Amino acid sequence: MNEIFAIVIHGGAGNILKENMTPELEKSYEEKLSESLNIGYAILEKGGSATDAVVAAIKTMENSPLFNAGKGAVFTHNEKNEMDAAIMEGKELNAGAIAGVSTIKNPIEAARLVMEKSQHVMLSGKGAEEFAELNNIEIVNPTYFFDEKRYLQLQKIKNSEKTQLDHSQNEQDEKDTKFGTVGAVALDKNGNITAGTSTGGMTNKKYGRIGDSPIVGAGTYANNNTCGVSCTGHGEYFIRKVAAYDLSALMAYKEINLIDAANYLIHDKMKKIGGDGGLIALDKYGNIAMPFNTFGMFRGLKKSTGELEVKLFME
Ligand code: ASP
Repeated sequence: MNEIFAIVIHGGAGNILKENMTPELEKSYEEKLSESLNIGYAILEKGGSATDAVVAAIKTMENSPLFNAGKGAVFTHNEKNEMDAAIMEGKELNAGAIAGVSTIKNPIEAARLVMEKSQHVMLSGKGAEEFAELNNIEIVNPTYFFDEKRYLQLQKIKNSEKTQLDHSQNEQDEKDTKFGTVGAVALDKNGNITAGTSTGGMTNKKYGRIGDSPIVGAGTYANNNTCGVSCTGHGEYFIRKVAAYDLSALMAYKEINLIDAANYLIHDKMKKIGGDGGLIALDKYGNIAMPFNTFGMFRGLKKSTGELEVKLFME
């Protein structure tokens, strides 16, 4: 039995600044992050699995319009919501993922189903939806994902794209609205680590674009011997750097500890190529890293040692 158990979550990294937020909104984020942490932690406390904790924590955020996942998923260029999710268990390196789905209420549940009930690791689009439905996952009308605020964000970007008058403003708008992915990593009493990530991707994405979140090794990875990790940020860069696996590899091959490896990855390797974002990670001792190279990252942790933290901004 592991003495330490812990959960760490994120709700996306990006241009998250106190001055851009009302106190009410700040409070809503803090409350939802706390709720998600507490739900996951309660499962671990009762001896439940890291996988159950991760799915429950992520589902809580997916059901909230505050985050770019599930209910609050951003819009594609074609004004749809296409979601991606992945989950990985560090014990046997089992993994499941779905990409580009528009009717699955909780994409993280479908990712888990792929891991547990299919012979595959990643399913996409209509096939993934069919598989989810056959296995009694909750299917919703795509209108469930309509969110006025997200829709307006898309229109703003599309309008400035059309006029091309202010390209830098356009880029800034995309940067401001593309973040908000959710993720969770947990260590249970049996010493097992699970990591999961769920996202709507990036506002205005085109041509069936898939980001790093559902790609094992890029946005999501877990290995009991090293760490569990969930990334958030500009997905293309995290894919190119195979970021999540890179963290595990730095620990395994270079014997760098979790905190140093995570800081090096986000503040040095990712930053050098313009990869905006951050990650949450946890190792078998319950050490936790939450680095980000953006202005802020919605994040929180809860450990059996009594440590509890919920933060939005740099400090
Ligand atoms: N990484 C996600 C993607 O590129 C977006 C995010 O984390 O905000 O799809």
